[in-house]
Amino acid sequence: MSSIAERIAQIRKELPDTVRLIAVTKQVSVAAMREAYAAGVRDFGESRVQEAASKQAQLHDLTDVTWHMIGRLQANKAKKALELFQWIHSVDSLKLAQRLNQLAIQESCQPKICLQVKLQSDPNKTGWTIPELLNDLPALNQCERLNIQGLMTIPPLGLNDVEILNFFNQTRALAINIREQHWSNLQMQQLSMGMSNDYYLAVQAGTTMVRLGRILFGARPTVPNTTESES
Ligand SMILES: *Cc1c(COP(=O)(O)O)cnc(C)c1O
Repeated sequence: MSSIAERIAQIRKELPDTVRLIAVTKQVSVAAMREAYAAGVRDFGESRVQEAASKQAQLHDLTDVTWHMIGRLQANKAKKALELFQWIHSVDSLKLAQRLNQLAIQESCQPKICLQVKLQSDPNKTGWTIPELLNDLPALNQCERLNIQGLMTIPPLGLNDVEILNFFNQTRALAINIREQHWSNLQMQQLSMGMSNDYYLAVQAGTTMVRLGRILFGARPTVPNTTESES
């Protein structure tokens, strides 16, 4: 079996230089995270606020790491998330965006965020459909403390490669569409898409950030981590 460092080196070879590799470290030990750091990783993605807080305390000597929140964020953890993360990829509603904006004013920070889109309505997924997002653009543009960088997405389960590529291409087209509307606060330069199973398709579709977990660190335990209730 290859080491974490070897797997990181292999993935880096496959990724264009312009694509940012975010190592998704949910349920990954801090020892494994140190190996990834030693292999050059400087971006860690976590999906739970509490887990990230604990790991950051243990890894406080790694001062040049950028922390990315990629999981569903509840309003009551938004303040803590702003303290812990430089990026929040999973902003999935206008309400959450406005709450983060208010908190960012209070905390005098300017978080980088992505708007999570799902393209089509899907009751199992959070995020904006295309018409919902287009409708919310004026209000999002007014969230002036948010540094709105682009779109994030996760394809629905059960798509084949052609369909996933199409889904990623549609997401990129949506970002370009918004960019061409020239909103002052909606830069839309970044695309956060691509996970272990589909990152090569995201790269083909022009992603700028991939979020990789299992392909770097191996399978996660199947029993969900219950140290923090997210519901
Ligand atoms: C867990 C997770 C990932 C990483 O998934 P892998 O299949 O382990 O690469 C990426 N993005 C989000 C939002 C996740 O929750």
